[in-house]
Amino acid sequence: MSLLVVGSVAFDALQTPFGSTDRTIGGAATYFALAASLLAPVRLVAVVGDDFTAKEEAVFHGRKVDLAGLERAPGKSFFWSGKYSDDLRTRQTLATELNVFATFQPKLPEAYRDSRYVFLGNIDPMLQRHVLEQMRHRPALVALDTMNYWIAGTPQELAKTLRLIDALLINDEEACQLAGEHNLLRAAKRIFSMGPKAVVIKRGEYGAMLFHRDAILTVPAYPLEKVYDPTGAGDSFAGGFMGHLARHKKIDHSSLRRAMVYGSVLGSFAVEKLGVDRLRMLTRREVEARARALVRMTSIHL
Ligand code: AMP
Repeated sequence: MSLLVVGSVAFDALQTPFGSTDRTIGGAATYFALAASLLAPVRLVAVVGDDFTAKEEAVFHGRKVDLAGLERAPGKSFFWSGKYSDDLRTRQTLATELNVFATFQPKLPEAYRDSRYVFLGNIDPMLQRHVLEQMRHRPALVALDTMNYWIAGTPQELAKTLRLIDALLINDEEACQLAGEHNLLRAAKRIFSMGPKAVVIKRGEYGAMLFHRDAILTVPAYPLEKVYDPTGAGDSFAGGFMGHLARHKKIDHSSLRRAMVYGSVLGSFAVEKLGVDRLRMLTRREVEARARALVRMTSIHL
């Protein structure tokens, strides 16, 4: 089923205790698309500069990622640089250069306007709304990611956008900031009152929580002996989550619960190598095997 993503396609410079690169392909929409396309075909909307050549575009080859919505603009692609602490628990942003992203006005190709599943990656909430305005029909599910920059910088715009969406995927700190609450349960309830009917709170190595109606589900992160580079884990989680829902064309409570497992699994693969290296060579078979393993680790019968 049609799954649309809008967000950044970028070059990243990454420094981790295990390795560094001064230029690799990154961007939230890139991680999302590589993760989700193992489960369902993805339609990508983003902008890149003329430094993003056919060689870079090849990152999506062999995957069901429709690039009709990948706009090319004169100039440089979005560039982001980050450095992780030795325990990988904290990250410092060293540079954010918007470049062609600064004037990005997402334009949906005609064929994308009937997409049933939509993921609005972390961009200006006004642009996220602009994407929804271009849809021919109300999608079956609209999910959104955002960050502190928009929560603090453009709260009114964000509030307007939140009223239009179904699910919010957000990390724990940002959920608390958005809700003005320290407690995650109270934060989720407060976010319900802002519009979303489902709230997914990502907690890094502590897993993720789904709040939907009166029910709560917690899913652990898949235990890994070695985490190499946490970049893009959240976007890959979102890709696994949305990819599962789009594949099964269902958004009831039990599919949301299963989607959480796929989110956690795709997030865990993303961190195993530098940048998108692990997602690039990942197979559906590996995803399914890890999903089964995660479920085995967490099922308890009392
Ligand atoms: P995450 O680790 O989930 O924060 O995602 C990291 C990815 O998001 C990197 O590949 C960056 O290129 C991209 N990114 C970082 N900052 C921004 C931003 N302000 N807007 C859009 N994308 C960003």
